Amino acid sequence: MSRTRSLILTGALLTATAAVTACGAGNAATGDGKPAVMAAFYPLQWISQQVGGADVSVTGLTKPGTEPHDLELTARQVADIQDATLVVYIKGVQPAVDEAVDGHASDSAFDATTAISTLPATGADEGHGEQGHGEQGHGDDHADVSYDPHIWLDPSRFATVATRLGDQLAKADPAHAAAYKQRAATTAAALTALDGEYRKGLATCTGHAIVTSHAAFGYLANRYGLEQISVSGIDPETEPSPTRLAEVANVAKQKNVTTIFTEELVSPKVAEILAKEVGAKTAVLNPIESAPGDGDYLSAARRNLETLRTALGCS
Ligand SMILES: [Zn+2]
Repeated sequence: MSRTRSLILTGALLTATAAVTACGAGNAATGDGKPAVMAAFYPLQWISQQVGGADVSVTGLTKPGTEPHDLELTARQVADIQDATLVVYIKGVQPAVDEAVDGHASDSAFDATTAISTLPATGADEGHGEQGHGEQGHGDDHADVSYDPHIWLDPSRFATVATRLGDQLAKADPAHAAAYKQRAATTAAALTALDGEYRKGLATCTGHAIVTSHAAFGYLANRYGLEQISVSGIDPETEPSPTRLAEVANVAKQKNVTTIFTEELVSPKVAEILAKEVGAKTAVLNPIESAPGDGDYLSAARRNLETLRTALGCS
């Protein structure tokens, strides 16, 4: 009896050890037998659900309502990344995810920036010579990412990401390849339609400068002929220096900016100070980095378009 028990225990221990050391297996299915897709943060979760549909089980790594840039992963999440069929992420947004992918899922991860042409990072805080996204204390982890990672705010590029994601899922789960490719085409078409609305909606405007909280809107600005002036380029949480604030206020006055944009997940204090200094209003422009309170990626993007049209005096 005791010998049997000890054998069972040994067996259980061996199984547990095997599970822990089977690094990069990358083909585990979820409890319901569907391929598991780990999406790093909201827009990637949305696009994974659109393209994967009912054939996959999508889990977001970033909790709704939290700022994704500072994400720390639990041991459980690292294990989920290791076991996932596909990890959908954007290198350079979340150092913890980049590290987990490099260590445990390099063969089963899709970095969405590889699908499109990136733009260089535009750090607003040029005094520190650092660009892109940084995090106090972990900033060095991002130093090797020289591009702007906010690709999802350009619907046209995001449409290309949908198509490539369809290819990735088809490769990972060939039994449902046709369904993935079909949903990818539908999603890409919806994003292309959104791009058309942006093009039309922002074609004739009085203003072209957008003063934003963190530098999330570089792709949007580039695509639709706008100029982004961000208060804190590097990290949404970084307090800008008085020098930087004075610079932004000056540029905003020169360009007759009517609206200083804030974000839902960042304190509006700095934007309010700036708006007062410039004689402008404040409005929320959503970087869509986390799930919107209501609606989805598409409705949040349309809300942004209306906010921009009002602020820029578009006809
Ligand atoms: Zn951001």
